[in-house]
Amino acid sequence: MRDTEKHQGLRVQLVKLLEQKGITDKNVLEAIKKIPRHLFLDSGFEQYAYQDKAFPIGAGQTISQPYTVAFQSQLLEVKKDDKVLEIGTGSGYQTAVLCTIGAKVYSIERQNELFKTTSLLLPKLGIRPKHLSFGDGYKGLPNYAPFDSIIVTAGAPIIPKPLMAQLKIGGRLVIPLGEKEQIMTLLIRKNETQFEKHEFGEFRFVPLLEDKN
Ligand code: SAH
Repeated sequence: MRDTEKHQGLRVQLVKLLEQKGITDKNVLEAIKKIPRHLFLDSGFEQYAYQDKAFPIGAGQTISQPYTVAFQSQLLEVKKDDKVLEIGTGSGYQTAVLCTIGAKVYSIERQNELFKTTSLLLPKLGIRPKHLSFGDGYKGLPNYAPFDSIIVTAGAPIIPKPLMAQLKIGGRLVIPLGEKEQIMTLLIRKNETQFEKHEFGEFRFVPLLEDKN
């Protein structure tokens, strides 16, 4: 597990590119500059790690494109010590970004293989989420709710009701909504019953899948 000056240089370039594409949140950019993304891919694919592209990570899943990670993280407006729920741990890269910003991260993954690999990888990199869980993200984590913000990192056909219920008042839920293509959607909880909705253009994600039977 090596992080060299070459890797660090490539990250500086990546951060510049993300700034050009409109990412302005300093905490997000700083986290991306710090985190060795190449260590979240199988070795051998290192050269792809600092391109602004999604990449296969096993179990038919992908590590999200850096721009997408940055865009969703920026929409969350995460502050230090915020309690954040992530649906779709995957490679753990998005988890690492949120932890590096200082959030207390709770994350759920439904592919056991990815859950196991990522649970071992993160502590090796010094990244310590509050809780990693193997299960169905549609249900959220009622035992740990409410959350300051919730991020869904797979394409969701609908907004799962439990996630809305587990959001604090004033909290933000960022979710890519749609079947084939997704509209990045931000819900801000106004009170017990009302949510304000904002939409931010098209993205492409692997699907958020229902429980396996
Ligand atoms: N945040 C990840 C993105 C991985 S892609 C990263 O940075 O690498 C989306 C992930 O969501 C996949 O790992 C997929 O297995 C997971 N997923 C899909 N449906 C899910 C569900 N119902 N509950 C939890 N995770 C789910």
